[in-house]
Amino acid sequence: MRRFAVLGNQNATSQSLMSSSKPLILRPSQDGISCAAALLSKGALVAFPTETVYGLGADARNGQAVAAIYEAKARPSFNPLIVHVPDVETAKVYGHWSENADLLAQTFWPGPLSLVLPLKDDHGLSGLVTAGLDSVALRVPAHPAARKLLMAFGGPVAAPSANPSGRISPTTAAHVTAGLGSKATGILDDGPCSVGLESTIVGVTGAPALLRSGGVTREDIEAVLGVALDDPMQGQISAPGQLASHYAPKAQVRLEATNKRDDEVLLGYGPIEGDINLSPEGDLKEAAARLFECLHELDATGRPIAVAPVPKNGLGAAINDRLRRAAAPR
Ligand code: AMP
Ligand code: MG
Repeated sequence: MRRFAVLGNQNATSQSLMSSSKPLILRPSQDGISCAAALLSKGALVAFPTETVYGLGADARNGQAVAAIYEAKARPSFNPLIVHVPDVETAKVYGHWSENADLLAQTFWPGPLSLVLPLKDDHGLSGLVTAGLDSVALRVPAHPAARKLLMAFGGPVAAPSANPSGRISPTTAAHVTAGLGSKATGILDDGPCSVGLESTIVGVTGAPALLRSGGVTREDIEAVLGVALDDPMQGQISAPGQLASHYAPKAQVRLEATNKRDDEVLLGYGPIEGDINLSPEGDLKEAAARLFECLHELDATGRPIAVAPVPKNGLGAAINDRLRRAAAPR
C-alpha cells in the first residue's frame, strides 16, 4: 500500500498541495525542489534534510509561517530559530558581518556551524525568528538537497529540527512523518542525514563565544580564530542551546489586564481592543506572529505595558510563557 504521494514530477498547484491531508514526499529532483520552494513561498512548512538532522522549514520573513513551526512542534516557548541561507552573500543581508564571521564562514561554511550576528536594520525577518532579539543565528548547510532548496527558494529559511518538542531529532523522512504527520505540507526526502548532531553555535556579536556544542569542534574554531572561545554555557549543561538571553521589554509588564491603568499602554487580544491588538479575530497564529513586533512597538512608548488575557491552549502556551518572562521581576 502506498501511504504517501511521491512527487518527482509535479503538476498539481501549490494551493492544492497545501490543502492535502498527507505530507507530500518530494524527491530532490529539479521538479521536487521547485515544488518544495513553491510551498515555502506560499507560507507552507517543508521538512528537508541537512547534514545534521531533518529541519522543519518556513519562510523566515513570514510571521504566520514561522508561527506554524511552533504550532507543529508544540514548542512550549519561543526560542529564536536558526535561519538557513544559501550562501555568505545572503547571510550578509541579515547579519552585520565582521572579520571573525568571515574567518569562520570561509572555513566552515557550508557546514554544521551557526553564527549569531548582530541583526541588520531593515532585515525583513519575522520578529518570531529572532524571538525579539537584536541578533540572528545564520547557517549555510552543506547537504546538497538543502542547498538546492535554498537556492531555488532564494530567501531565508527558519528551520529547527522537524520533531515534536521534547522528542528525538529526526534523521530520516520517515521519522518526520511519524512525529509530525501532515503538519509539514511537504517533506524533501533524500535519505538519512549523516551527522545526526546539531550545529555548533558560535556568537560573534562581541568576543566570540561557544553558545552550543555540535558538529564543529571548539578546538577547530579556536584554531581558526586564534583566540579561546568564551564559555557562557558553563554551569548550564542541562539546557544547551537554550542560553540565548531572552528579549524582555524595558517597561514593566502587567498580565491578564482587561483595561488600562494610569499611564499604561494596552496590548489587546480579541475583543479587548487595546492600543494595538495581537489578533482582533482571536487567531493565536496571528498573535504569535505579531507578538515581538507589538511588544517592541509598545516598549518604544516608554510607558508600562498592560497585556490582555491570551488563551492558554495551542500556540497560546508559548505566547503566555513569553509574556510571563516579560512580566517577571528583573
Ligand atoms: P535549534 O533548536 O537547533 O534551531 O537551535 C536554536 C538555538 O539557536 C536557540 O535555542 C539559541 O540557543 C540559538 N539561537 C538562535 N538564534 C539566536 C539568536 N538570535 N541569538 C542567540 N542565540 C540564538
Ligand atoms: Mg531540536
